[in-house]
Amino acid sequence: MSQTSQLRERLEQSFGYKRFRPGQSKACRAAMDGRDTLILMPTGSGKSLCYQLPGLELDGVTVVVSPLISLAEDQAASLQENGIHAVILNSSKSKKQIESFREDLRSGRSEFVFTTPEQLQQTDLCELLAEVGVDLFVIDEAHCVSQWGHDFRPDYLCLQYARKRLGDPPILAMTATASARTVDEIISCLQLINPVTVSNSAYRSNLRLAVKACDSEASKDELLHRLLTYDDGLVGNEPAIVYCNTIKDVERLAEKFSNLDAPVLVYHGRMKKQDRLDSQNAFMDGPPAVMFATNAFGLGIDKPDIRQVIHYTLPGSIEAYYQEVGRAGRDGKNANCTLMFDADDLRVLKMFAGGHLDSSQLATAHHCLCQGVQRCGSEDGTVALTDLTKISALGRQTLKNCLQQLASRGIVAPAGRGRWRLLLSEVSRDITDRIADDARRRAEDRQIALRQMVEFAGRHSCRWSAILNHFDDDLTADLEDCRCDVCEPDINRSVEKAVEAEKREIAEIIS
Ligand code: ADP
Ligand code: MG
Repeated sequence: MSQTSQLRERLEQSFGYKRFRPGQSKACRAAMDGRDTLILMPTGSGKSLCYQLPGLELDGVTVVVSPLISLAEDQAASLQENGIHAVILNSSKSKKQIESFREDLRSGRSEFVFTTPEQLQQTDLCELLAEVGVDLFVIDEAHCVSQWGHDFRPDYLCLQYARKRLGDPPILAMTATASARTVDEIISCLQLINPVTVSNSAYRSNLRLAVKACDSEASKDELLHRLLTYDDGLVGNEPAIVYCNTIKDVERLAEKFSNLDAPVLVYHGRMKKQDRLDSQNAFMDGPPAVMFATNAFGLGIDKPDIRQVIHYTLPGSIEAYYQEVGRAGRDGKNANCTLMFDADDLRVLKMFAGGHLDSSQLATAHHCLCQGVQRCGSEDGTVALTDLTKISALGRQTLKNCLQQLASRGIVAPAGRGRWRLLLSEVSRDITDRIADDARRRAEDRQIALRQMVEFAGRHSCRWSAILNHFDDDLTADLEDCRCDVCEPDINRSVEKAVEAEKREIAEIIS
């Protein structure tokens, strides 16, 4: 039997799917052949299967890194539903649980291990896994390595070292963000070797993109009210996300709209961890709700029936915008995505785009690690970040950021369990200058990304073709069924007309 028909049989047996979706078969075969693989497919197109199937076929353990532990849990649960044993390693596990986890690995009972980059660094998990034998290292939401786009997670920068510690298994990296820039960053940061690239069009015909110019907070609030209450048989009482750039807006709007028919939820980075989790769970599993959130919400969530994504403020890049609207309509049914655009939003956004490390901070962090290894390093030459903070003038977070930047150049390396190792004992001014320059350049890149987003919002041309152009996607010819507000303004007008009629009706009742 050919490899492909064997895989197809397995697809049906283990997952109950009749056929592969576009790109899945190619991705599975590449991973089975031990190649590094990069999967660029839109949200909802079935990226997970591209590691699940090879993971089952290959003998060793498949390690899957997700940016958030809640995502890791979702992924593990979906495998377990299919009767496949998977374990999750997170910091909330007790000693006893970790012991039984080790047992499961040693006995070969677990085929999949889900974790986060932090966990891989903080524990001796890598060494344990290497002993058992890892034959696929999966990096989900790989665009998190990108320092200028969206969802940046510094710990992703260290995954190339995790691969080495795992015994050099092939990497399978997956993302929905496919700009040439991000792809380059993923390949260089993860040090993918001659990767097989599987790339599907970013076009999602079921997402109706619309941009609404607004000139004040009041006009935005009024539009938002209409969007959240108008029932055109598509969005009435169905799950919606409203994205805002500031926590202040999230809280104000949640308060203002607290008497909607649907439950109102909030999510942002300053909430307590448990509150955030409760809020996410309520959105995922509870009755249809409206979620008011900052961009901290939504990465990788697998909720099929989100019917509306509304941007109350402009996202910082087209990548971010695409990721966020992509969370709507994963079930393939129509969904509406409305971007509100007020030139005033730009002030806040420009503020977000700044921020970088300077050369002397990098040199200080390096010096501190040299000192730390001598003064309080353990036998294996590693030293804990906690000990370093005691002898450094830099704050813990800055110190960690600096070490991560130095690690991305192979000058230092994370050694697991929150410990760091020195690889080069000398680092010239030239090099720290260069790293700092890169950081500055990334801040400039963020400004450029923002400008592109403003241009997108301001231009009156097909929304989807603008996005596909941005991603160098050459399938622009298939846009015949595009329903964006430029290609099909009628839907909009009929909504407006109906709203007008409704207003008249109410006026009549009142008078
Ligand atoms: P994403 O690309 O966003 O990571 P997922 O991997 O979460 O997407 O998959 C989205 C949905 O598609 C899941 O509910 C999954 O069960 C379903 N799916 C994946 N592959 C297939 C297939 N070959 N046939 C039918 N459904 C599939
Ligand atoms: Mg996914």
